[in-house]
This record gives sequence, C-alpha cells and structure tokens, in this order.
Amino acid sequence: MTDADVQQSLSGKRAVVIGGGITGLAAARVLSDRGARVTILERDADPPADDTTQAFESWQRRGAPQVRHSHAFLGRLRSLLRDHYPDLLAGLLAAGARELDMLARPPATLPPLQYEPGDEDFVALGCRRTTFEWVIRRSIAASGLVDLIGGAKVVGLTAADGAPPAVNGVRYSCGDEERHIAADLVVDASGRGSKAPAWLAALGATAPREEEKSSGVVYYTRFYRLRDGAEEPPPGPHPTAADYNWIKYAVFPADDRVFSITFAVPLAVPRLKILGEVGPFEAMVRALPGIAPWADPARAEPIGDAHRPIQAMGGLINRRREFVVDARPVATGFFPLGDAVYCTNPLYGRGCAQAFIHAHLMGESLDAHPGDLAAAMLALDCSARAAIEPFYRASVMADKDAVRKAEGRPARRIGNRLRAAFLEQGVLIGTRCDPVIFRAFLRMFNMFESPEKAFGSPRVIGRTLLVLARGKRFRSRFALPDPPDRETTIATCEASLGAHAA
Ligand SMILES: Cc1cc2nc3c(=O)[nH]c(=O)nc-3n(C[C@H](O)[C@H](O)[C@H](O)COP(=O)(O)OP(=O)(O)OC[C@H]3O[C@@H](n4cnc5c(N)ncnc54)[C@H](O)[C@@H]3O)c2cc1C
Repeated sequence: MTDADVQQSLSGKRAVVIGGGITGLAAARVLSDRGARVTILERDADPPADDTTQAFESWQRRGAPQVRHSHAFLGRLRSLLRDHYPDLLAGLLAAGARELDMLARPPATLPPLQYEPGDEDFVALGCRRTTFEWVIRRSIAASGLVDLIGGAKVVGLTAADGAPPAVNGVRYSCGDEERHIAADLVVDASGRGSKAPAWLAALGATAPREEEKSSGVVYYTRFYRLRDGAEEPPPGPHPTAADYNWIKYAVFPADDRVFSITFAVPLAVPRLKILGEVGPFEAMVRALPGIAPWADPARAEPIGDAHRPIQAMGGLINRRREFVVDARPVATGFFPLGDAVYCTNPLYGRGCAQAFIHAHLMGESLDAHPGDLAAAMLALDCSARAAIEPFYRASVMADKDAVRKAEGRPARRIGNRLRAAFLEQGVLIGTRCDPVIFRAFLRMFNMFESPEKAFGSPRVIGRTLLVLARGKRFRSRFALPDPPDRETTIATCEASLGAHAA
C-alpha cells in the first residue's frame, strides 16, 4: 500500500491524542493524513513566540523536561521522514536542522571508504529538541485537521461498558474546570510519565503487563553557541562521543550554530553528581580532549537557562508495557504509543525514532484493518514487537553490562565474558579498522538493525573473529587513545566546585 492509498481512510472520525510531544505530534500527523479530525491535549502551554530561539529559551516544558537535554535524531528517523513525511524533513532543514552524515567523518584509522548502497541512510539530524517539536507543531497546525489545546491535562478515560472496555473519550482539566471530549479513537502519547495503567484500571480493564529497569545513569547537559566567525573544531584523534565506563560523554551539533555537551554519569560513581555545577562541569569538559576544543571560551559561549545552566535529569529508565494481554487488547479504541509503551535509556538516542516508527506503524495497522480498531491494535502490537522491542531488549542488556563495568565487577558467566570480549576487543576495534564492521555499527546505531542482527550476521562475525585472531598488538594500533585518569579527573572537578566558571 502506498502513502497515497491511505488518504482519507479515517475521514469523519474524531481522534484525541493525549500529549503533544514527539509521539503525539507524529500520531496527529499520521491520523490527520488519513482524514481524521484530531485534538491534541497537552498539559504544557504553547511555545511563547513563533520563533525557535524563543522556544528554546523560554518554552516551559515541565511535562517533558528532557527537551532541554541533548537530542540526536537517528538515521532511521530521518529516513522515515525522507520516505514518508518529506515535508517535515524539509521543514526541519529549513529551520536549521543539520544532516549529519556519519560517513563524512569516519574514524581516521579506517581505510578510505567507497560508496555502497545504503550509505545514504547513515545520516542523523542535528537539532534542538525544542526546534524539532516547534517545526512539527507548525506543520500539523497548517493541515487544518489538528487542534492542539495547551494547558489541558488528561485525568482519565471514558469507555462504553464491555470486556474489554471500548474507549470513547477522555476527561481533562483546563484550569479549574474538568471537561470531557468524545473520540472514536484515543492515542496515549503522554510519555514516560503516562498514567495509562491507572486510567485503564478505573475502567475495569485488565492491567497491562509491565517491566522496568533502571538505566543506571544520570544526565548532565549544557548548551553552547559558536561565537561569530568561529567554526566547529576539526576531527582529531579523540572521539566527540565515548564511553569510559566511569563517564560517558557526547557532543551534539544542532541548529542555529548551537551544540550541546552531555555527560551520562553512572549511579555507581556518585562523586560525579557534582557535574550539576558549572565549575566541575566545565572542568570535566576541559579534561576530555575530544570535547575540550568545542567549549573553548574563544570558540563558544554557554547559552540556556541562566538559573539552571547545567540541566540534570535522573530517573532514566528502560520500561516496556504490554497493552495486549493473552492475545486481547486490554481496551479497544485505545492506542498507547512512544515512551508510554517503550521507554529506553536516552544514551542510545532511540526514543524519538521509536516514537515516530510507532506512530507510523499505527497508521499502517489502521489501514490494514479499516473499521476494526481491535484488529488494528493487535496488528500494531505485532509490528511494534518486531520493529521496536529488539532495541528495548538491547538497551536493557547494554545497560546491565555498563552498570557491571561501572561498579568494577567482571562478568561472571563464561557466555557473558565471551560476549564482552567479542564486543570490546572485536567489534569496537573492528569499527576502527574494518569498513564492514563499521557499517554494521552504523546500521545498529541508527536503528536499521538490532545489535543481534548487525553483529550476528555470518559476514560480520567472521570479520570480527579475524580482528580478534590478529592479536593484541594489531588491535592496539586501532584502539582509542587512553582516557584521562579517573581519580585525577574527578579530583580536579571536585576542586573546581564553587568556582565561577562562565
Ligand atoms: C535526558 C533525555 C535525553 C534524551 N535524548 C534523546 C536523544 O538524543 N534522541 C532520542 O531520540 N531520544 C532521546 N530521548 C528520548 C525522547 O525524549 C523520548 O523518547 C521522546 O520524547 C518520547 O516522546 P513522547 O512523545 O512519547 O514523550 P514526551 O516527549 O515525554 O511527551 C509526552 C508529552 O505528554 C504531555 N503529557 C504528559 N501527561 C499528560 C497528561 N496527563 N495530559 C496531557 N498531556 C500530558 C507532556 O507534557 C509531554 O509534552 C531522551 C530522553 C531523555 C529523558
């Protein structure tokens, strides 16, 4: 079925979307493309002005505080936009989003890369999360089919009696008033804080199944803008993103000459909580040669909230909810999407791609089962399990390994030891010496293939075993430069506590 075939299949239907974050906006686009009239209820107020700078500086987003943390928009998301929502991609680029071609700056240790089919997909989008939302908001508002009501907090669902209950509307509060809105279809896009289990329990529905694991990290982020005439630093031997077990960091180039630096600090290293302060944060930046040149005061100046120059965010979880239990939807007419269903450690940058994929799959499921919302929900559950769940499982597994390493515990089981050696000595080094392994990494990183698929193909396994077989001396030629000493670096950061760095 082509995109043209799906037009108007929901004509005459009213859909209500709970939450106007990435998932809610994507869902509204998908539903309005099919002719539905959509109302988005968003607890936060609208952006203050029609401008991406203002949106970044003063849009209050208490319902989605992560908007003021670094966001990368992976190749899979950009390809989905390119192939199915080209106007959105064009709008993002027009607003200053950058296409970050990951083959343009490969590791210097790789032999020269020849173009291969598929390489055109290894392009991520660099832009502030507030800019991303602002562009999509503007685009869906222009469709004439979507109303976005700001300051509207959903407090419950309504449903026709039955087993399972058939959701037919939502209750929401606007100021002091409680209101009801009827709907043929309700999407829960209220994110990681979704109250769907409680709302469903109030309808007498079967409880969704849920599994939750801590990601084991806390985020610290600061935004900067390049000074007039300054350029981003050229690539050097030190990476702009790395995981040293005791600290993980990355630079995120964005729109409007802005970039951000994020540290993900393991809960196992509580001393690093001081990175929430400007002095220690900047001391850490200066200690890491991959990012120090970016934030050099001669090149860039910090921007953002003067009262909270460093944004901190904890409570980062991996969580999966199942809204189809024993092969039956727990409620019909109710489509939970995005973080409300699959929430993954932000470190892997997958959440927004998952959100858009999920909304897109909902559209395909509705197309495949016109007029049968229960069947559409079952189809969506199947397709999301295939397309998104492998990445959820990969996040959980990678986090388990990362927590173990941050705590300094060796892998005990032989299988885990072999897997760790395969990944750390084989795959990781392979990405720096073998284009086949490098591309497998890019397919995994950009969510085109799960880690099992990308690194488990016979070709990639063979190449990785070759890297392992060539011995330590060979591998040391391709290893990343050593990180700075952990104790010295943390002590330096502690010493700068209270220092009034810019
Ligand atoms: C620190 C951090 C960094 C991240 N970095 C990345 C990254 O680099 N790349 C990436 O792809 N993903 C990243 N993510 C994940 C990404 O932010 C989420 O996956 C994405 O926001 C999910 O979109 P969503 O719409 O489901 O939820 P959200 O974006 O959280 O949106 C939910 C919306 O619902 C609203 N809402 C909540 N409750 C109600 C209610 N009762 N009534 C009405 N409205 C309500 C909220 O105000 C909010 O606007 C990061 C996450 C965090 C926490």
